[in-house]
This record gives sequence, structure tokens and C-alpha cells, in this order.
Amino acid sequence: MEFEAWFFLVIPLFFALGWIAARVDIRHVMQESRAVPRSYFKGLNYLLNEQPDKAIEAFLEVAKLDPDTLELHFALGALFRRRGELDRAIRIHQNMVDRADLSQEQRFKAMYELGEDFLKAGLLDRAESVFHRLDSGVHARDALRNILEIQVLTKDWEQAIQTAARLEKLGCPAQNADTAHYYCEMAQASTLKGDHETTRRHLESALGQNHRSARAWMLLGDLEARAGRDEAAIEAWRRLEELNPRYLTVVAERLLQAHHRLDRDAEAIELLRGYLERMPSPDLLHLLFQTVAERQGWEPARRLAAEELKRHPSLRALDDYLQASNAVQPESMEGRLAQDLVHRQVSRSAYYLCGHCGFKARQYFWQCPACARWESIAPERVEHE
Ligand SMILES: [Zn+2]
Repeated sequence: MEFEAWFFLVIPLFFALGWIAARVDIRHVMQESRAVPRSYFKGLNYLLNEQPDKAIEAFLEVAKLDPDTLELHFALGALFRRRGELDRAIRIHQNMVDRADLSQEQRFKAMYELGEDFLKAGLLDRAESVFHRLDSGVHARDALRNILEIQVLTKDWEQAIQTAARLEKLGCPAQNADTAHYYCEMAQASTLKGDHETTRRHLESALGQNHRSARAWMLLGDLEARAGRDEAAIEAWRRLEELNPRYLTVVAERLLQAHHRLDRDAEAIELLRGYLERMPSPDLLHLLFQTVAERQGWEPARRLAAEELKRHPSLRALDDYLQASNAVQPESMEGRLAQDLVHRQVSRSAYYLCGHCGFKARQYFWQCPACARWESIAPERVEHE
């Protein structure tokens, strides 16, 4: 009996202890929350109410009152950059770079962010000089990648080649195909100056980087053709048959012209027919069609278009076929109307397309003008559905 009475007395004591423990915790939380500036909660409140502008002002006040809130500074800087308020992003990051109390790692991070701000603002010189200061530490590789991007943008190919080599040494996967394009750009610049020896040297370097480089073989053929060596030119362009047949469309017209200069039209027509057998290509068909019409007449040209239309139907093959049919039977009014219609549709709907960003172009580019990728545009035009 006595034992049970004692037991009932202990139970309220446990409740009391639990209540005290809870009070202590709440008091601790209250103390902590008083240490966080009121503006912080104001900012959070604005964010929750989807008022980002007011939220930013509130957070800026916190950042001003408490310079230790580094992460908040970084978050604000990144936010300003994303919103396109680059002067504010630059100010925040510049202030952090100038502070004396930051660790090396924190200063490097602020510097990298500042470089990104300058890059986005188009202040390429300033961006490059900031990125050059980050040649060690965790941001070194990303900084170097940005430097390469700037050098490509400013067409500083010589420096770009060196930067690409340094990136590879830092463990980045080699981008030999891109580097081959830098050499091709230099080769084209030397061609404009009439310096054929340097052109050849750059093209050899390009092929050293990427033996399958369609552009380098194309330019090498051009160099030979300009020097009057059509045989050597044809040989260079025909290397693509094995190395990179997708790009034969790019050299097809050059092949026709060189053969024509050598008085070997029939051979060129057979060559292109062979290419067309290997790969369906309305662009190649059109070129061959025009050549056959010019050299052999409309009837063989019509037969060529008809065969190709059966094998690989396309609006452009139909356009060629109708053109030849109308030339053979000029009195057909319906034929002319149909061709007008198809031709107008073809000229509107065929374009080169970047497989990476979807950029559409009337002319072919080795580097996409929109996303700056090399060879992301297929060398064959597509028809809009
Ligand atoms: Zn693109």
C-alpha cells in the first residue's frame, strides 16, 4: 500500500520536469531568433508572398548590418546576375574581393563570381583579367574554360590553342575537333593575306589535331586548286569519302568545278551519282541535277530526279523533277503552276539547323552563331514539316 502512494507522487514530478525542459528549449530558440535581424524575417516573408524586389531590399539590409553573412552576399550576387542587374552583382562581388577579412578560398570564389558578372555584361577584357588571377585553387579549371570562351569570342585563335592545351593538362577531356577549327580559322586568315605556306602549316596542324576534319581537308583542297593543282585538290576533297562522308555535300560543288577545269565532266557526274547512291541528300541531288541539265540536257536530268524521287521522296526532289518536266514539255500550264507552288514552298522551308540549340540558317556555318558550338549544324538542309 505504502509503495503505491509514493509511486503516484512521482508521476506529476515527471510532468513538471518535462514542462521545465520544454520551457528551457523555447527560451533558447527565442534568444537565437532575437539574434537574427528582423529584416531577415521580413525578407523571408516577402519571398513567401512572391515579392522578390522587396525581399532583395530586406536581405540587402541584413547584409549591410551583418558583414559576416557571406553566403547571403553570394546568394544576392548570383540572384542579381540571373536577373540581369549586373551592376549590382558586380558591386557586391567587388566589395567581397576587396575585403581584407576573407580567407583565400572565399576571395577566390568572389573573384570567380565577379569574372562571371563581367563576362555576362560583355566586359570581356575585365572578365579575362579576373579569370587569369585564378590560376590556382578549385576555380582554376572553370576560370580557364571561361578564358577559352572569351578567346574564341574575340577570335584570338593562337591564344585559344594554348589555353586548350593547358585545359587538357589540368585533366579536362581533349577537344581536338574544336582545336582543329582554331587552326582552320588561322589558315583562312593567312589565305586572305596570300601567305600560302603558313596556310598549309596551319592546315597540317589542324589535321594533326583531327585527321577527319572536313573543314581542314576542304581548305587544303582549296589551297591546291588556287595554286592550279586541280588533281591534288580533288585528291584532298575525296579523302572525305572514307574519313567523313557526311561532309561530301560541302565539297561536291568544288569537285564538279575542278573536274570541269580538267575537262572531265562525265567523271564528276558519275562520282556524284555514286555519292547519292550512298546517302540520300536533296542538296547533292540538286547540284547533280543542275550539272546534268547543263551538260547532258533536260531529259537525263528529269530521269535522275524521277529515280531519286522514287527512292527518297522530298519536296526538293519534286521541285527538280517538275522543273525538268516543264523544260521537256513547256506547253503544260498545270506543270508550271505546280512547279511555282512547290518551288516557293521549298525556298521558304529548307534551312540548315543546329542540332544543339535549334538555330536555323540559310547558309552553312561551321560554328553555330547562336550557341557557338562547332559542327553542331548538319551539312545538309532540312525541310520544315
Ligand atoms: Zn546552336
